[in-house]
Parts: sequence; structure tokens; C-alpha cells
Amino acid sequence: MRNTYDTADLRSRDAAHHWHPFSDSAALATEGVRVIVRGEGVWLEDSDGNRILDGMAGLWCTQIGHGRVEIADAVHRQMSELAFYNTFFKTSHPPAIALAEKLAQLTQPHLNRVFFCNSGSEANDTVIRLARTYWDVAGKPTKKTIISRRNGYHGSTIGGASLGGMGPMHAQGGLPIPGIVHIQQPYWFGEGGDLSSHEFGLKAARGLEAVIDALGEDTIAAFIAEPIQGAGGVIIPPDSYWPEIRRICSEREILLVVDEVICGFGRLGSWFGSDHFGLKPDLMPIAKGLSSGYLPIGGVMIADRVADVVFQGGDFNHGYTYSGHPAACAAALANLEIIEREGLVDRVRDDIGPYLQARWKALGEHPLVGEARMVGLMGALELVPNKPSRKDKFEPVGQVGTLCRDISFRNGLIMRAVRDSMILSPPLVLSHGEADDLIARATKTLDETWAELKRQGRIAA
Ligand SMILES: *Cc1c(COP(=O)(O)O)cnc(C)c1O
Repeated sequence: MRNTYDTADLRSRDAAHHWHPFSDSAALATEGVRVIVRGEGVWLEDSDGNRILDGMAGLWCTQIGHGRVEIADAVHRQMSELAFYNTFFKTSHPPAIALAEKLAQLTQPHLNRVFFCNSGSEANDTVIRLARTYWDVAGKPTKKTIISRRNGYHGSTIGGASLGGMGPMHAQGGLPIPGIVHIQQPYWFGEGGDLSSHEFGLKAARGLEAVIDALGEDTIAAFIAEPIQGAGGVIIPPDSYWPEIRRICSEREILLVVDEVICGFGRLGSWFGSDHFGLKPDLMPIAKGLSSGYLPIGGVMIADRVADVVFQGGDFNHGYTYSGHPAACAAALANLEIIEREGLVDRVRDDIGPYLQARWKALGEHPLVGEARMVGLMGALELVPNKPSRKDKFEPVGQVGTLCRDISFRNGLIMRAVRDSMILSPPLVLSHGEADDLIARATKTLDETWAELKRQGRIAA
């Protein structure tokens, strides 16, 4: 037995002193947290010795799986050489230089520069300042408004949460900040009504055109979107959506910001979601899979046409003490080397992606599942009381999702609940055997959730 943890003791100390993100801390203190103590590959182990399949890759980020000592070795080497120096004031260091160069190689040819930060949220704060500064220097200072989408997620700082379109986040702390306008999301299952998914994709995209025209093109700086919304519930836009957005952006003079914090680094079976959907971003926030979460790091990839203008404006008065932190850059470089060496991006496109997708989509046959969708290794199951209807939802929203999530945890599989959909985004190293195991646990979870809902009288017996 490797397990030497006292769970009750850890729980009470956590409850006494640790305030958790996106949590009801009072309720959590009563319930007790689950303490994760170890990770290896797609598996986690908790303080009671339970093995759990990490279907969320940490938090959408652990592309290469847990416990890769190679990353620790790279970080150890870097910290032994130079643990920290900043990148302000005309200085740089080899890991930041090497990572910037590597990112320029991996991204589209017009993206040749990166601004480093420590998270996706900071990347999106950087986007706000950079997009507005671009138009100032370009001589169009009225172009300030950024268009975003309801139920998009762009982080939790004041800027990031304002760009995001999450109602419960806006309800706290006086958000969003001025100058951000939200349009409809391309969520056909939830909001498509009687339209076909094709028609609805066009309608949602044309919301962008309508807002640009209503506010005046001379007031709009940028449009920001995730290729596939992650935290919003793995919302895969209808096929008609991105081509129409591309048309609108090509006809209007605005910047296109593609938030690749989740979709980047192989998640969709391409290096970036932009490659998957044929988008040409002007600014491209990255984080999460950049280091597989081994150390915090993020950045914004900057198109040449933006850099060329902003460079004429002198100092860009923005930066973080840890922008391009040497140890984080070393972790990211080692992570990218593993992704390349193990061919993980192609593997998601050609092998494990199609393999898991076929089995995941078959879960759509379950009486509780209204839709099973997945691109690459990023998927969702919409739980509904009355299939095949898309209109009937569980009331109140979210309870059934939470129930299913808790049952899944008990069955040794981490899926996340968003409203009443179950979300999956496993490490890209998932083997075929582990995929079979995952599907078996998910099936058992759906069966048990179904049985429990029947028992509660929430669905017809
Ligand atoms: C997670 C996420 C962010 C925020 O990243 P943090 O590292 O949590 O600040 C931004 N955009 C998207 C699309 C994300 O999924």
C-alpha cells in the first residue's frame, strides 16, 4: 500500500483554510473535498487509494497525461541553471527564445510572435489591450468594442470574465466591463428551436454582422471566440457557422481573435482549432495544453499585420513579472517535444480520436442521452428527460448533471457536468483499452443515473 494519507485530516485542514475556485465553499466544507494525491498517464489516485480515470485531462490541459518525469527533469535542469529572470527591460533568456521560435513554427505562417503570460485569463486581458492598441496606432481610435458570445469562456480575470458570456460570473463583481458586446452562441441543441442546424449556424453567425452594422464598423475592434466552446459545454458549431463568420470578418475591418486555450495543442486532432476550421486568427490566445498544465504558462500569438502596426507605436505598456518564466518555458518545450515525438496530434486525428468518437456517439442510444457529440477528443452528452425531444429539459437545470457527475466519480471516471450535459476531454495519450474502460464506466454511470431518476420519479418508469 503506497497510500499513507489521512483523508479526514486533509479535509478538515482544507475546509479551514483553502478557498476554492468556482465552489460553494460553505457547502464544500461540510461535504469534504476529494484529495488527489498522484497521477500517472490517464489515471489519478485519491487519498483513499481509489484509481480514477481522468476524463478531463486535469482541466482540459494534460495532453501528455500525468506523471511524465521528463518534464520534471527539464524543469529541474532549467531551474538549476536559471530559475528566474524577467523579460522586461531589454532582456531575454534561452528557454523563452526557444519556445517563442517553436510556437512560430507550429502555428500558421502569418503568426510569428508570441507575448507570454501565465494563464489563459492573462492572455485574454492581453488581447483586450493589444486589440485596442492596434487600432489606436493604426489611427482608428474609435475602434474599441470587442464582440464576444454568450456562454463563451475566456477566463476569470475582470477582462477575461467580461469577454466571456457566463451569466453567473457577470452577476458577481459588476461585470462585464464597458466596451464588450455579446452575441448568440452557435448552440443548436440548446437554442436551435425549429431551425435545421445549418440554418441555425448561419443565423448565429449573422448576429455578428448585425451587431457590427448596428454599432458601426468604426467602433468595433475585434471578435473573439473559441473554435469549440469548452467550459460552455463542448458546443460544436454547425458546419455553416465558421465559414459564415469568415465571410463576415473578411468583409468588415475587424480583428479575429481565436481563443485556442482548449482547442490548441492537438485537442481536435490538429495543432490548433483554427487549422481544423480553416480560420486565420489575428490574435490567438493559448495556454492549458501548451505545458500540459505541468507549470502555468500562456501567451498570445500575434499576426504579422498586427505586430507590424503595434511596433510603430513604441512601448506596449503591458506585461507580467513572470511573462516567459524560464521554468514554465522549459516545461512547455519539453511538453511540445513529447507531443511531436509521440505524434499525438495525428494520433487524435487518425487513431484514438475516431476510435473514441465511435463509442462515445453510440452512447447517444441511451434513453437518457439526447445527443452525443465529439470532435477530436472533446465531447459532450446532452442528458434529457424525454428523448428524442430537444425541447424538454430537466428542471431545475443542473441537478441531473451534478447527480450524474457524482455517480461517475464513484465509478472511477471524471466527467464534468455543464448544466445537464456531461463533458469529456481526456489526455491525448488515452489507449484503446483505456477508451474501452472509459466507455464502460460512462455506460454504467448513465444506467445508474437513469435508475436513480426513475426512483425519484423524475422520469416516467
Ligand atoms: C480555461 C480557459 C481560459 C482561461 O485560462 P486560465 O488559465 O484558467 O486563466 C481562457 N479561454 C478558454 C477558452 C479557456 O478554456
